[in-house]
Amino acid sequence: MFSDIDKLNEEAWNSRNSNTSEALRLCQDALMRSQEETYTRGMADSMVTMAFCQFRLGNYQEALNTASQALELFESLSDLAGRQKTLNLLGMIYGQSGDLASALKTFLQVQKLCQHSGDKEAEANALNNIGIIYKLLGEHTNALDYHLKSLPLYEAAGLEQGSLRTLQNIGAVYDDIGKHRDALIYYEKSLEKQDKDDDPHTYAVTLSNIGICYRKLSVFDKAFDYQKQSLVIAERIQDKLAESFVFDEMGLSYYEMNETEKAISYLEKSLNIKHAIGDRKHTATTCLHLGMVYLAQQEGKKAIKTFQEALTIVEAIQAKTELYKAHQGLARAYQISQDFQLAFEHLHKYAELRDSFYAEASDQRFHALRVSYEVEQAEKEKEIYRLKSVALAQANMELTRLKNQLEKQANEDPLTGLFNRRVFNEKIETEFTRVKRFDGQMSVMVCDIDSFKKVNDTFSHSIGDEVLKAVAKIFKTNIRSIDTVARYGGEEFVILLPETKASEAFTICDRLRQMVETHPWHKIHKDLKVTLSMGICDDTGSKDAHEMVSKADHTLYSVKRNGKNHVRVWTTEHVSVLA
Ligand code: GH3
Ligand code: MG
Ligand code: MG
Repeated sequence: MFSDIDKLNEEAWNSRNSNTSEALRLCQDALMRSQEETYTRGMADSMVTMAFCQFRLGNYQEALNTASQALELFESLSDLAGRQKTLNLLGMIYGQSGDLASALKTFLQVQKLCQHSGDKEAEANALNNIGIIYKLLGEHTNALDYHLKSLPLYEAAGLEQGSLRTLQNIGAVYDDIGKHRDALIYYEKSLEKQDKDDDPHTYAVTLSNIGICYRKLSVFDKAFDYQKQSLVIAERIQDKLAESFVFDEMGLSYYEMNETEKAISYLEKSLNIKHAIGDRKHTATTCLHLGMVYLAQQEGKKAIKTFQEALTIVEAIQAKTELYKAHQGLARAYQISQDFQLAFEHLHKYAELRDSFYAEASDQRFHALRVSYEVEQAEKEKEIYRLKSVALAQANMELTRLKNQLEKQANEDPLTGLFNRRVFNEKIETEFTRVKRFDGQMSVMVCDIDSFKKVNDTFSHSIGDEVLKAVAKIFKTNIRSIDTVARYGGEEFVILLPETKASEAFTICDRLRQMVETHPWHKIHKDLKVTLSMGICDDTGSKDAHEMVSKADHTLYSVKRNGKNHVRVWTTEHVSVLA
C-alpha cells in the first residue's frame, strides 16, 4: 500500500518540471492517500513535490507554507536527506519571491547541514545555490567564489552532472555582468562535457543559453542555430517549458532584427504554452516581451492588453522587477494610444516602484550580507565552543594524569614499585579492624635481606639495588591476589596475608624464601648469593596492627640471631621454629 504511495510520489517528483499541473495532481492524490493511511513519509514526500509545483506556478506564499510543513515532517522523521531537499526548495522559493536574505540564510544552513552529514553532492548543490543568490544580489565576486567552491566537490564525488551545472552557473554570472563572450566559454565547456542522451533537459537548456549569448552579441544566425537544436530536444522529451523558452528567444531575436511579425508569432507560441502549464511568472515575462514588440509596432491597444496581463500577474505574485517593467510598458503603450493621463499615472508608478526597488535591493543586499555574516559567525562560535570543550577535556585529562602520577608517587616505592610503608600501614590497619569486627584471621610477615650490607660493600650499591628490585619482583609475582606486599624500609619487606593463619602463612612465605634463595643471582654477579629471614605473626589478639607488625619483627630478629635464612612464627610463650 505504502509502495503505491511511494510510486505516485516518485512519478509526481519526476514530472514536476515537464508537466507541473500533472505533477500537482499526482502529489495531491498521494497526500490524500498518505493522510488516510497516516503514512508520514508519504505525506512529507508529497508535500515537497506539492510545494515545488506551487512554487513553479508562482504561488509563493502557498509554496512556503507547504514546504515548511514538509520540513517539519522530515524533521520528525529525522530524515536528513528530506530536510536538505526541502530546505533547498525553501531557499529557491525565497529566492524567486525576492526574499534574497532568507534564501541566502536557508542555503547557508543547507551547506552547513551537508558539511556535517558529509553529503558532498548536496553540499556542492548548496554552494551553487548560494552562488546564484549572490548573483541575484549583484554580488558577482561572491557568486563566482561559491560556484568555484562547488567544482572540486563534484569532481571528487565523480558527479559530472554537477560540474557542468556549475559551469553553466558561472556562465550565467558572466552573462549577468554583460561579459557574454566569457559566458559563452563556460556554457560551451559545459556542453562539451555533456552527453545529449544522458540528461536531455540540461542539454537543451545549455544549447538555449548559448543561443542567448549569441543573441546578446547580435550574432543571430548562431543564436537561431542553437535555439533550434535546443527545440528539437525539448520537443523530443516533451519538455514544454523548455520549448517555450526557445520560442521566447526566437521571438526576441526577431525583435532585435526588427522582424516584428515573426517575433510576435514566436512569443505568442511561447505564451500559449505557458498559459497551458499555468506558469505565471514566466507568462508575465513573455507578456512583457510581447508588449515591447507591440510598442515597436506602435500597436497601442495590443500593447496595453499585453502589459495589463503582465501587471495583473506580477501584482498577484509580487514579482518586483517585473512590476515596474509592466508599469513602464503601460506608460509607453498609453502614450502611443494618446491617453496621456493614464500614461502619466503609469510613468509615475514606474518611477516610484523602480526607485523603491533599487532602494530595497540595496537594503536587501546589506541585509543579506549581514545574514551571511551572522550564519558564519554562529558557525564560528560553535567551533570556538567545540575547541574550548576540547581544550577543557585535554586539560582535565592532563589533570587526571597528574593526579594519578602524584597518587602513585605518594603510594609507591620508586625503586621497586611496591607499596610503601605508609600505604601498608593503612591497609593493615583496615584489615585489622575488619578482622576484629568479624572475628576473622590474618597474618603479617616481616622480612629482611640477610647481610645486605655485604652485598653493597662486596659488589656495589647498584647491584644492591638490583637485588632489591629482583626480590620485590619475586614477591609481587608469587603472592596471592588477596595479599599485599610492601617495602617497609631499606632492605625490609612486609606482606599482609588476610584470612590466613600462621601455618598457612608459613607455607606461603617459606616458598618465597626458597625462591629468593634459589634465584639465579649469579646472572647478576657470579659470586652473588641472597637469602632472607622472615618473621610471621597471626596474633589478632594484639592491641593493634602495629603491635602485630612489631611481634613479626621481633620474631624476624630471633631468626637473625639463630643463623638467618629461615621463617619463624611468633607464639605467645616464645618465638619458635615451625618446621
Ligand atoms: P642483617 O643480615 O643483620 O640484616 O645484616 P645487614 O647487612 O643486611 O643489615 P644492616 O642493617 O647492617 O645493613 C642494611 C644495609 O642495607 C645498609 C644499607 O646501606 C643498605 N640499604 C638500605 N637501603 C638500600 C637501598 O635502597 N639500596 C641499597 N643498595 N642498599 C640499601
Ligand atoms: Mg639485613
Ligand atoms: Mg635491616
